[in-house]
Amino acid sequence: MAIGGAVASTAALTPLVRARMMPQDMDRDVFAGVVRELRAIVGDEWVFADEASTISYRKSGIPDLRGEHVPSGAVAPANVEQVQAILALANRYRLPLWPISTGKNMGYGMATPASSGQMILDLKRMNRILDFDAELGTILVEPGVTYQQIHDYIEDNDLPYWVDVPTVGPIVSMMGNTLERGVGYTPYGDHFFMQCGMEVVLADGTILKTGMGSIENGNTWQAFKWGYGPYLDGIFTQSNFGIVTKLGMWLMPKPPAYKPFMVRSPNVEDVAAITDTIRPFRMNNLIPNGVLIMGALYQMSMFNRRADLWDGEGVIPLDVIQRHARANDIGMWNTFYALYGTDEIIAAIEPILTAAFEATGADVLTEAEMGGNPYFEHNKTLMRGGMTLEEKGLVRWWGRSGGAVAFAPVAPAKGGETIGQTQLATEIMNKWGFDYAPAYAVGGRELHHIIFLMFDKGDDEHSAKAEQCMEEMITRFGERGWAAYRSSVSTMDLVADQYGAANREVNARIKQALDPNHIIAPGKQGIA
Ligand code: ADP
Repeated sequence: MAIGGAVASTAALTPLVRARMMPQDMDRDVFAGVVRELRAIVGDEWVFADEASTISYRKSGIPDLRGEHVPSGAVAPANVEQVQAILALANRYRLPLWPISTGKNMGYGMATPASSGQMILDLKRMNRILDFDAELGTILVEPGVTYQQIHDYIEDNDLPYWVDVPTVGPIVSMMGNTLERGVGYTPYGDHFFMQCGMEVVLADGTILKTGMGSIENGNTWQAFKWGYGPYLDGIFTQSNFGIVTKLGMWLMPKPPAYKPFMVRSPNVEDVAAITDTIRPFRMNNLIPNGVLIMGALYQMSMFNRRADLWDGEGVIPLDVIQRHARANDIGMWNTFYALYGTDEIIAAIEPILTAAFEATGADVLTEAEMGGNPYFEHNKTLMRGGMTLEEKGLVRWWGRSGGAVAFAPVAPAKGGETIGQTQLATEIMNKWGFDYAPAYAVGGRELHHIIFLMFDKGDDEHSAKAEQCMEEMITRFGERGWAAYRSSVSTMDLVADQYGAANREVNARIKQALDPNHIIAPGKQGIA
């Protein structure tokens, strides 16, 4: 049995991949001994070191033609003491461990490690909601707690809160998404901003509680983020400095009224005016939530396979996308924002926003016109912290074995930036034969450009092109000053280089101090 999902096909691993499964410099007998010791710590059934489990954990969705992201196995501890015991063993044998919470990091490598031979430290058995303060709206969770679990807990206990979810919320963890600094779409959409207090197990087994967590008899851990002295939580996000075993978060009070809107823009170039219209309203908070400007093809790829829309040569032509968009009642860009509060508050703000967006030539639509349309319903659900799985459809775009790798460069929230990024991404992706399926997530003053490169993972040539296309995008966006805020395990070094030598050097020094044997997630974010 494997806990990384159903055991995949029994197709044998190629000799190359089999060789790469071993931790670097570890001989097979030593590895067998390590596996025995791990079994003694967590129980036989919670160590996975056979080929079928490896195949299962290796379903990354990203291109990996050279077998560079093949784990040596997986171990699933039940509690912090077992995590500490595994770390002690890992230090003794120099066994690299790749921690995951639920391992569903879609577009970024799922459960796979930055380099082959690492053993996955699968934390999904640690899946308790440890605390929920109904007065403060705060929660303390273990790594394996999914958004669905939190959603159900709130419903079952009739609590007056919403949880902010990323896409594919039901299956992913609050821990993994927050540590990766992912976003959602309610007013609490910047997850790391809403995080408050964590417990971290360091490589030597030390347990650190950040912020107010270590105050004797204290009860402010989830109420005050900053604690005393240097603020440490940030260094454990997108990081390999420790294993986070508890995470505190703030939840949004459920508003009495909620109204979602869709701004339908007919032309590709409209994205500039839309961005310039959103920015002041995000800055003054008249639009309080994480806004998504969705490209038509991104939206359609959730609900369709490519062959349903186009069976001609080359990338899908613009006029074909436009035709399908119209047939589905959506534009080339569809912007989703929402208002929250009372009916009176919403009624006061709505006309200000509607007039501003209509001035860009767009239609501003509500439930009255769009209710029941699946594209509208998807974002309506997200903006109230509801559960959706539709985005999983992206990996089925090419029909067969799905591949999807994400590129997410950030830019100031200014119209000119979106036009520049859209033009550059379209040029590069079309050159390599890939469809440009974008979205822009607009925060306060910046935006994340989310580009899913969808490819056929069953076709090696296609996978190779996907790899080269991604590399060219990262490099050429980098030359324009646009760097990614996050990256797939296959491009962590490339992106880390763009952040400069001093950043890499400081990270390396912290790593050396906290994890001198480099056993936690070597290579994560380019930190060895
Ligand atoms: P998701 O919630 O999307 O399934 P994952 O479990 O795949 O998230 O985690 C995403 C990434 O975050 C992992 O690859 C790992 O690098 C990091 N990570 C996840 N959980 C932890 C943790 N508990 N401690 C340290 N790093 C973690």
